Amino acid sequence: IASMRGRVCQFSLSRPRESAPRCEIEPELGSFLPANSRYIRRERRPSESGAGVESARVEMAFEATRPLIDPFERAITYLRVSVTDRCDFRCVYCMSEDMAFLPKADVLTLEELDRMCSAFVTRGVRKLRLTGGEPLVRRNIMWLFRQLGRHLQTGALDELTLTTNGSQLSRYAGELVDAGVRRINVSLDTLDAQKFKDITLWGRFEQVMEGIRDAKDAGLAIKINTVALKGVNDDEFAAILAWCGDQGHDLTFIEVMPMGEIGANARLDQYMPLSMVRARLMEDFTLEEIDYQTGGPARYMRVEETGGRVGFITPMTHNFCESCNRVRLTCTGTLFMCLGQEDAADLRAPLRASAGDELLTDAIDEAIGRKPKGHDFIIDRRRTDPAVSRHMSVTGG
Ligand code: SAM
Ligand code: SF4
Repeated sequence: IASMRGRVCQFSLSRPRESAPRCEIEPELGSFLPANSRYIRRERRPSESGAGVESARVEMAFEATRPLIDPFERAITYLRVSVTDRCDFRCVYCMSEDMAFLPKADVLTLEELDRMCSAFVTRGVRKLRLTGGEPLVRRNIMWLFRQLGRHLQTGALDELTLTTNGSQLSRYAGELVDAGVRRINVSLDTLDAQKFKDITLWGRFEQVMEGIRDAKDAGLAIKINTVALKGVNDDEFAAILAWCGDQGHDLTFIEVMPMGEIGANARLDQYMPLSMVRARLMEDFTLEEIDYQTGGPARYMRVEETGGRVGFITPMTHNFCESCNRVRLTCTGTLFMCLGQEDAADLRAPLRASAGDELLTDAIDEAIGRKPKGHDFIIDRRRTDPAVSRHMSVTGG
């Protein structure tokens, strides 16, 4: 493409005169146009032709495809994709040690995940987050990052990112940057190696810290996600905030959510409202409300002493549903329109039913048409059932 102004691009074509009279360019357009665009017209103007060569200037225009708008007028622009249900950790609030994992045939292949994500990008999704399970333990996952990175290059996608436990960052940080990833979320609940073991069971603290260092050195901006756990890490909040300030990482605290049958562990007893986390932090730091938004449910505050930001995600005690712009896809192709509700749509069947994306696009439209207004997590302390029965590793948090 020689020049691109707004939604019009121009280029020149030349061919030997004796070649076939028709020159098909439409099949090629897909690789040039932003994914959320549709080709609408082409004009050819003959231009100077030399001996034996015919040239033409071609101008084509394209228009944005229909965005995904739910029944409450919210545009869906953010897709979180769980690329695997497997993980190399067994965080006590997330998985049981004897988790049964999905059979391979049920899990979308990397090619299918690419098709699925690209269909959403075509319909106006501008931010993709890969999560899991642990996304970086899926074999050949860098292929998917590179594939999806093409949508950054065309401008169809604003951000490609991931949430990771950090164990594989030393290995992949450079490749993530090459694929176009700029910011990542790393989950880290403690700075104490023994507690880290107690929380993650299988995790290795030093490996994660090294991964975070390597990711920073590779140029990735890092946000640390810390689940607030009463009686586990509640004596460390200030230390974690100070460490993030030193390292230049943002920090978000998350309330533990009642999800998945993970046995009679202390999940509900560990619940701690983030108002308490904030109150604890304010004993040591000056926190000031700010307007910063990342398109997610976190509310951010500026930390005067470090110059950094601290966010709070309070799904249990605060309703952020009015501005919800996201949906979640599992690694089996099930779309959850709301983290807190059971309603879901199967996108794998329409994806596998045909090579084209028409059936898939119809199924996405139908699903978005069912996105609920909001959710209502209920912690009933007399019961041990989770409010939502799926595991966090299924929808990726
Ligand atoms: N394995 C990656 C990781 O740990 O970052 C990505 C998947 S993990 C399910 C995504 C996030 O969900 C992590 O930050 C984790 O701490 C959080 N999480 C898992 N179970 C949770 C629960 N029951 N309540 C709140 N957050 C949870
Ligand atoms: Fe694995 Fe992440 Fe769940 Fe921990 S929170 S068990 S790292 S998926």
